[in-house]
Amino acid sequence: MDRQQILGQYDWAPGICFRHQSKGVVPTAHIKTIRPAAGGLQDIRACVDCVVEMNTRRGPGGGCCPD
Ligand SMILES: [Zn+2]
Repeated sequence: MDRQQILGQYDWAPGICFRHQSKGVVPTAHIKTIRPAAGGLQDIRACVDCVVEMNTRRGPGGGCCPD
């Protein structure tokens, strides 16, 4: 699966990546919603790079061939 196919599986909206808060608001996809111990709900969002990385790592030979 190529990058565009991976990205096409997600709905994108401006947000803060859970791993790259320093980037500020970037296009992000909703990954999951967690329930912090403090209560309430927290959305976990990931930027393009993180979404691609998460998907390629799972695939056959994942992570071997960075572009
Ligand atoms: Zn990220």
